[in-house]
Parts: sequence; C-alpha cells; structure tokens
Amino acid sequence: MNILAIESSCDETAVAVVKDGRTVLSDAIASQADMHAIYGGVVPEIASRKHIEAIAALAEQALAQAGVTRADIDAVAVTYAPGLIGALLVGVNFAKSAAFGLNVPLIPVHHVRGHIAANYITHPELEPPFVCLCVSGGNTLIVDVKDYTRVEIMGATRDDAAGECFDKVARVLGLGYPGGAPVDRLSQGGDDRRYELPRAHVADAPLDMSFSGLKTAVLNLVHNAQQKGEQLELKDLAASFSAAVSDSLVPRAMEAAKRKGYGKLAVAGGVAANSRIRADLERACAASGDKLYLPQLSLCGDNGAMIGCQGYYEYLAGVRGGMDLNAYANRDIQKG
Ligand code: ATP
Ligand code: MG
Ligand code: FE
Repeated sequence: MNILAIESSCDETAVAVVKDGRTVLSDAIASQADMHAIYGGVVPEIASRKHIEAIAALAEQALAQAGVTRADIDAVAVTYAPGLIGALLVGVNFAKSAAFGLNVPLIPVHHVRGHIAANYITHPELEPPFVCLCVSGGNTLIVDVKDYTRVEIMGATRDDAAGECFDKVARVLGLGYPGGAPVDRLSQGGDDRRYELPRAHVADAPLDMSFSGLKTAVLNLVHNAQQKGEQLELKDLAASFSAAVSDSLVPRAMEAAKRKGYGKLAVAGGVAANSRIRADLERACAASGDKLYLPQLSLCGDNGAMIGCQGYYEYLAGVRGGMDLNAYANRDIQKG
C-alpha cells in the first residue's frame, strides 16, 4: 500500500511516498528556515505562503523520486494538528484535493504521533508498547505508546517546550534560528558545570517538566553580563544549558520507562538530535538495561516520511478524514 504523505505544520513543506508503513520510497522536503531566520523565528503568514508556493511541485517531485505515478497511490495522509493553523491548512487542503482527485482515502495524522513513528522507519523491528520521550519545537511530552494508535500522556512540560527553550537561548547568544543545532555544536567540549542553572521540579507531578525558569536564567545571565561588560564563556554556557535540559528530560524518561517496564525507550522530535541528550540517554539505558531507540538524525525534524508511516497505522485502525477535515493548532495526542 502506497501512501502519499503531506506535512506542513511549521516551516518545512514535506511530501513523501511510503510503502506499507515502513518503506520510504521518497521523502522530499523544502525548508523555509532561511526565510524565517531573517526575523529570528517563524513568521506564520510567510510560512503559509511559502507552503502554497512549494507544495504542488514537491508532490510531483516525491512521486517522481519514488518511481510511482498517481495511479499507484492508495491513500493520502496529512498532518492536521498541531501546528501553525494557516500552515496546516495548506497541507490539509492539498491533501483533500489529492484524495478527492485520486479517489483514495484521506488519513488525518497528529504531528507528534508522526514524530514517534520516525522510530519505526529507523528501527524496523520496533513495535509498541514502549515509552517515548517526545521533544520538539512546540511539544515536550513523555508518552506511553500502548499501541500504534493508542498513546497515553505520562508527563508534559507545564510551560515552554525543550526546543523552544533551545531556540530562545540561541537567539540571545546570537546563534540565529533555528537554534538547537548551533547551541549543540557550540557546547562541544564546553564545561557543563561552569554555569549553575536551575533544574525545575513540578510539585506532586514528578514526570512533568518546566523550562521557562531555565530560559529566564540564561537570558538574565547574558543580559547581566552585557550590562557589566563581562565576557561569558559561550561554549561553557551552551554546555551548562544543554546539561540542564538533559537533566530535566533524561531522569524523567527513565522513571517513566521503569514504571511501565516495557524495556524499551524511544525518543522523538527535533530535539532528539541533541548530542548531549542522546549521550545521557545511552548511558542511562545501558545502566537500566532498557533498549534505547533513537531516530536517525535526518528523521528527527519535520519530514513527510514519518507522517506516511504513522498514517499507515492510523489507516489500519480505521481512521479516515472526510472532505470536511479541519486543521487544529492544538490537539491532544491521545485523541489522535
Ligand atoms: P512540533 O513538532 O512540536 O510541532 P516543530 O515541528 O517546530 O515543533 P521539530 O521540527 O520537531 O519542531 O524540531 C525543531 C526543534 O528542534 C527546534 O526547536 C530546534 O532548535 C530543535 N533542534 C534541532 N536540532 C537540535 C539539536 N541538535 N539540539 C537541540 N535542539 C535541536
Ligand atoms: Mg522546522
Ligand atoms: Fe515537529
């Protein structure tokens, strides 16, 4: 079964063709990041317009690269939530037209479920149940993946997402947008104990997280140093900050894995590319005996392949979208 998968929730337009859920025939991406970098973050109106400009040609490219024609497409999957509403609507409307024109089913896919599914592509042997740490630009969740289409939230951030925190810190350090990867590079070889930064705990919710205090602490540190004319060791600051984020994520993910006892922990989302978090998880899982599943770097950020993969499992579960399918800026991952 060939699924044409569409992703346009943020600043990447992506179209993929995925066969039987796990075989990626093509994965075409047009990133707008350079355009938004001028403004230091994603400008929603520009994102929507750029998606409109890119999407049709990208779909043609995805079909050509996959070596299939329109007649070979059996279903169309699309990210319908969560994300920037105008951006999502471009993908949803394109997907509706494609499904209608090709007379095939339309499958709505939750974006974060898609991020989780990136692991199925990288690890063909991986099957639920497992615990997944979902860390991206807009979401930070620890979920129990009970089945391909049944997930339960075990913990979540109460304020900023981990990726958002990386992006804000990168911005104040003058590293541009998106900032996660540059902060990661800068932190290499830095002293992670040079700057003391907070690790927040949420009272009576040990698996919940909070990153706004950490973000504010870094911003204050930088602004105070600027006012006093002091030089900060940016490498050490990046390392100290990355360690603080990892210290908030990794012990909670390990605790969640322990509670469930599946012996399997996966990571998903753009921040899953972070080298410190990956290394800390590898060490923790080696100690606990849990098997760790990390998506390949190319599938950590937004892509169409992950939507085609999750779309396949949603399809098998009977999920269908009608021609009245809408997009949603926010949507509970548990509801799909
Ligand atoms: P969401 O998936 O929550 O809707 P999004 O789609 O914008 O948000 P992703 O594409 O999954 O987010 O991930 C982008 C985020 O990942 C950005 O915040 C980016 O800075 C961060 N990121 C990418 N690489 C790294 C890295 N090496 N270290 C830390 N953060 C990273
Ligand atoms: Mg992006
Ligand atoms: Fe994403």
